[in-house]
Amino acid sequence: MKINRERLLNNIAHYAQIGKMGEMGVERIALSDEDRQARDLLLSQMMAAGLEMHIDQIGNMIGIRKGEEDLPPVAFGSHLDTVYAGGRYDGALGVLAGLELIQTLNDHKVKTKRPLALVNFTNEEGVRFAPDMMGSHVYAGLADLDEILASQAYDNPEETIGSRLEAIKYKGPMKPGSIAFGAFFELHIEQGPVLESEEIEIGVVEMVQGIHWTKYTLRGEANHAGTTPNKYRKDAGLLAAELIQYIGELSRADDRPILATVGSISFEPNTINIIPGDVSFTLDLRSTDGDLLKTLQEQIDEHFYTQANASDIEINVEEIVRFQPVHFQPEMPNLVEQMANELTLSSRRMPSGAGHDAQMMTSFCPSTMIFIPSVKGISHNVEEFSKDIDVENGANVLLNAVISRASF
Ligand SMILES: [Zn+2]
Repeated sequence: MKINRERLLNNIAHYAQIGKMGEMGVERIALSDEDRQARDLLLSQMMAAGLEMHIDQIGNMIGIRKGEEDLPPVAFGSHLDTVYAGGRYDGALGVLAGLELIQTLNDHKVKTKRPLALVNFTNEEGVRFAPDMMGSHVYAGLADLDEILASQAYDNPEETIGSRLEAIKYKGPMKPGSIAFGAFFELHIEQGPVLESEEIEIGVVEMVQGIHWTKYTLRGEANHAGTTPNKYRKDAGLLAAELIQYIGELSRADDRPILATVGSISFEPNTINIIPGDVSFTLDLRSTDGDLLKTLQEQIDEHFYTQANASDIEINVEEIVRFQPVHFQPEMPNLVEQMANELTLSSRRMPSGAGHDAQMMTSFCPSTMIFIPSVKGISHNVEEFSKDIDVENGANVLLNAVISRASF
């Protein structure tokens, strides 16, 4: 069976009008008025497709299509929120391909043995409210609902998740996690260059790599750049440069799967003729190998302490995020691979470099992701683009994987 390509592409273009930015982009921040509009549209389309609607207390939208037997549904979906100045595919693709899947089954009057569940998770991107992957986090029982509802907006502490859910009328009555799922599939753009550059049509996602975020603060002594001899200096700026250099050498020393990014740095007082007294910078360290991630993190921190000590500079290490790599249950990527083969689409196994709702769902039910190529690997950007044929292929793999999984 194949999805209706025109209907899916039209629907993607239609949602891209809500929060439209420039020619192709979308800005639809979680729990904003644009998010409400997109949710309202989805709600009406899900009801028109005959789904039984449930909204949970964190605002996740779940539509159930009845099966022949009363078993835990096979679920699929993603998120409708975007980052600031984002694109039209990240998140929306997974939700709208899920809706298309339901409409296709309706067109063909096909009943599945298991019920199906289309899900739109709340606040996957986490741009205004922490944490990201919020709706799936709560649904999978990995976070305390009341704590999350009290999460304040970065730009306005008066606004919380709870108050915004009330404001857009998506604080539902259902307890998160109360509908058990038999499986979860998420179709998503790759957001990287691998599939396009290797000319492969489908990414079979086996795992999500681990992520460590750390903030380092160095405290030296601000002083006159001309009158302070070298042996009296406590130059936090030069030390920071040496430490960052060390990260680069360590992470690129060989072919180990490690990615290190120092994406943010600030100097105090940040002036041409004053020795920097305080410097803080961040490290984003990622790996598919959990042991390697841990070992390198320890090695970096130990080296930093030693060097700071030797320079008589104080160092503070703040652990912001520690996510271990997540492995999907092998039967799920196996099924996706098989479906790609049956549709004569080329595929390769790969990890996900970014975090996604599916990684949270793994602890709740067998889960996996299906990737399609991103043109030039660009995402989180108004230039984000995936070709129509790839959107269609991804939706067909999703459709067939769901039908197969829902048959036993
Ligand atoms: Zn996404």
